Amino acid sequence: MVDKAFFFSRRNILVLGYGISGRSLHTFLKTEGHNVSVYDDNIHDIPDRTNLDNLNEFDLIIKSPSIPFMSHNCHPVIRRAVLSNIPVISTFDAFVLHNPDARIIGITGTNGKSTTTALTYHIMKDAGIDVQMGGNIGIPYFTLPKAYLYVFELSSYELASSKHLKLEIGCLLNVEPDHLAFHNNFENYRSAKRKMLDASQTKIISFEDKWSTGNYGGMDNILTVSSEYRPQADVYVCEHSLMVGAKTLVLDLSGLINLMGQHNYQNIGFAYAICRHFGIPNHIISKGIRTFQPLPHRLNIVKKIDDILFVNDSKATNPESAARALATFIGYKIYWLVGGRSKKTDALSAIERYLGSVQKIFLFGEAAAEFRDMFDGIKKTVDCQTMANALHAAYNDASKEDGPTVILLSPMCASFDQFDSFEHRGNTFVEIVETLDD
Ligand code: ADP
Repeated sequence: MVDKAFFFSRRNILVLGYGISGRSLHTFLKTEGHNVSVYDDNIHDIPDRTNLDNLNEFDLIIKSPSIPFMSHNCHPVIRRAVLSNIPVISTFDAFVLHNPDARIIGITGTNGKSTTTALTYHIMKDAGIDVQMGGNIGIPYFTLPKAYLYVFELSSYELASSKHLKLEIGCLLNVEPDHLAFHNNFENYRSAKRKMLDASQTKIISFEDKWSTGNYGGMDNILTVSSEYRPQADVYVCEHSLMVGAKTLVLDLSGLINLMGQHNYQNIGFAYAICRHFGIPNHIISKGIRTFQPLPHRLNIVKKIDDILFVNDSKATNPESAARALATFIGYKIYWLVGGRSKKTDALSAIERYLGSVQKIFLFGEAAAEFRDMFDGIKKTVDCQTMANALHAAYNDASKEDGPTVILLSPMCASFDQFDSFEHRGNTFVEIVETLDD
């Protein structure tokens, strides 16, 4: 067990992984007076780099979230550390050990983490609370100033390798098969989420998620949220009203264009439950929801040309999030851009209910052949190779339509076959859309 005293006594620490979180951790540990070395498989030009000739010189390893550590794909350095009994902890563990009294709200789930984290932070900030936001949302823990409260987006990668979790509130939005190459199987992926809930004083779960309610329903300190009419849930949505208890309307959600779609009602419900826990009044929460600036690459309307909306949902990297996008545009004619690196999950069962409005699917990237086969006999597809070709082809077809039409980039795949990141893919989409004539 690595406790705080143990952590501070460590003289030689190896930071494994020199990405955004590794860099800030390295700087922090140096300032704290530790002997710190850094190792990264791919980045060589780094300060305090070790070539790991003698791993035994280290008495603690702190790893970046994406470094695999499970038996099926364990990073060789972690394999060696385990054999030498050197403790390996996560960056989040390091934060908790350094800040044992920190009041932490952890938000995890397959989809909606960033939106719910940013929304909760925005409402709290607006309410005058001394709060900081960080974690998987892209803000490293060790860059944050001291605060009364922390709202952290926690990824399954981070949770799976954490051993020192301690949270005031843990939120699990939803759990669908994702990141299975990292976790090896769905059960391991769910176990990572379970770990966070087990370490949280108050747990907020989705009323619709059978796995969550099966494991936690009826326990003490559990709150349930539903994006549908479920009066049994603690917080739920009826029509466009957020409700608490049998009949109490607390917020009117109609006409929200910054948080479109029913899935965002789930995110709002969670943010509401968290904010009420800290006593923020309804009218302040309501104002925060309406003034929230949507995060880029999540169902963003980029442009409208005549009746055609161009929507960037590049962050939809799995079938479940793409399904939410299709559901949001029921009633529109959807020209759908799909492709990238497949997640190899059962995509069809996630999306088939929402295919009614889809006119044609424009495929690109590595997964094109897989999806052409999957949609065979169900929907028309065309293999466009690149996203740029897909967008032009979709615009060509969509401009012959009358009535509300949407060209939707919601690719249900990772981006890494043709882009650096989902942001790069989304920005490319936006740049091309901006060149199209009105
Ligand atoms: P995450 O951080 O978990 O990836 P984001 O908030 O960045 O989640 O959203 C990722 C994708 O999932 C976007 O396409 C978004 O529209 C969709 N999404 C957002 N919230 C939810 C939700 N509660 N359920 C399903 N899909 C969601």
